[in-house]
Amino acid sequence: MSQPITFADVVCCGCSCLCDDLQITVAAGQIAQIAPACPHAASYFAIAEDAQSNCQINGKAATIDTAIAAATKLLAGAKSPLLLGLGELTIDGQRAALDWADRLGAYVDAGNPAESDPSGVVLQSTGMITATLGEIRDRADVILFWNADPATTQPRHFTRFSLDAPGRFLTAPRTALAIDSQATATTARAELFCESPLSQNLETAHTLLALARGKKIDRKRVPQLQDIESIHARLSSATYAAIVCAPRFYGGADGAAILETLADYVRELNRNSRAIISLERSGPNWIGAAESIAWRTGYPSPVRFAADGPTFDPTGYRAAKLLSRGQVDALIRFDGDWLTSAPSELLTAMAKLPTISLGWRQSELPANIQFRVAKPGVECGGSMHRLDDVPLPLTQVLPTTRMTAEDAIRRMTNASCAASGLTSSLRSPSV
Ligand code: SF4
Repeated sequence: MSQPITFADVVCCGCSCLCDDLQITVAAGQIAQIAPACPHAASYFAIAEDAQSNCQINGKAATIDTAIAAATKLLAGAKSPLLLGLGELTIDGQRAALDWADRLGAYVDAGNPAESDPSGVVLQSTGMITATLGEIRDRADVILFWNADPATTQPRHFTRFSLDAPGRFLTAPRTALAIDSQATATTARAELFCESPLSQNLETAHTLLALARGKKIDRKRVPQLQDIESIHARLSSATYAAIVCAPRFYGGADGAAILETLADYVRELNRNSRAIISLERSGPNWIGAAESIAWRTGYPSPVRFAADGPTFDPTGYRAAKLLSRGQVDALIRFDGDWLTSAPSELLTAMAKLPTISLGWRQSELPANIQFRVAKPGVECGGSMHRLDDVPLPLTQVLPTTRMTAEDAIRRMTNASCAASGLTSSLRSPSV
C-alpha cells in the first residue's frame, strides 16, 4: 500500500475566503485529514461516491464522444442559448465558457443566479473603496458586520482575517459592530448590535451618510437613530474601519442604491481616516466570473455576444428576467451549490429548457446532456479569485477519471465550430 501524502498550503474552495493554508493528507486515494479543521472545508473536499457515469444523455450513460455530438446537435438548433453558473468554474474554465458563448452568440449571466449582485454596476458607476482581506486583518481596528455572518458562512474568517486574527499594525483589541435583521453567531461577538430589518437598510445607509456630512436629521423619522449614531461615532473615530457586507445586504431590489449610498458614506469617512467595504460572496469564484467577463467584453455581467460585439444590459439580461420572458431556447448550466439556493420559479423555468449541464456532483435538476467534471481544487488544479479579487492557485489532491470543465467546454466549442464549418477563431473582439 502506498504511503500517505501530505499536500501543504492547499487552497480551499469551500467558501469565498479561499483559505490557502490547508494541509491535506491523502491515504489510499482518499482524503484522510484536513488541518486546520473547518466544517465547510470537510464538506467541500468530500467526493460523493455515486454510480453516475461521467457523461449521460437523457439519464443514460454515454461516451464522451457521443455526449459531445449530442450537445453539438442540441445547440445547432438554438438561437439564443444562455450560460449560467460560471462561479463554479476555475478562471480557465470561465475563459473557455466565454469563448464558447461568443461562438454560440449566447447570453451569459456570470452572477450567482440565486442572488442579485449589483456590485459590478456600482463599481463602474460610482466606484467603491475596498481592500484585501490581508489589509483588513493587519489594520482594521473597527469592523462593522452588516447582514454578514462569517462565523456561520465562512468559519475561519475571524481567525484568519478579522476579529481573532493578529493584526500586524494593531495596538489594541478590535471593536466589532453589527447590523442585522436577527441575532447570529457574529452579532453575538459585537460590542454594539443594531437589530434592523433588511427593508430599513437604505434608510440606515442614508442616515450614516447624513451624519458623516453633518446634515440635520429628523429624529422622529429614523428608528434606532441612537444605535446608528453610535455606529457612526465608532467608525468615524477608527484608524481603519472595515464594513463587511454579505449578499443579503446588497441582494435586494434596492441593492444598487444601498451599495452606492454606503460607497458614498465610506468616501466621506476617508476624508479623515481610512475606511473600506468588503463584500462577501456566497461561493468560491463568483468574483472571478465577474472579472473574466469584464476582461473579455469590457462589461460587467450580464452580456450577450453578437456578431458585431458583446452588448450589456444590467437588468434585461439577468438569467431570471430572460427565463421569465421566454427569451432563452437552450441552457448551458454549470452546476454547483448555487442550485440549492436558487428560487423555485427559476428552477421551474430552467427545467423546461433543452439543457447541457456540467457539474462536479450529481445534480437533482434534469439535463438532456450531463457531464460530470473534475472538482476544482480537489480533482483538478487551475485558479480562482478570493472574495477580495486575489487570484490563488488550486492543487489537485485526488486522482480522477473525469475531465476538467475547461476540457469539456473546449471540446464542445471545437465540435460546434466544426459542425458549422467555422474555424475556432472568435466572433467578438477581445478587450
Ligand atoms: S473558511 Fe472557507 S475557505 Fe477557509 S477553510 Fe473554511 S470553507 Fe475553506
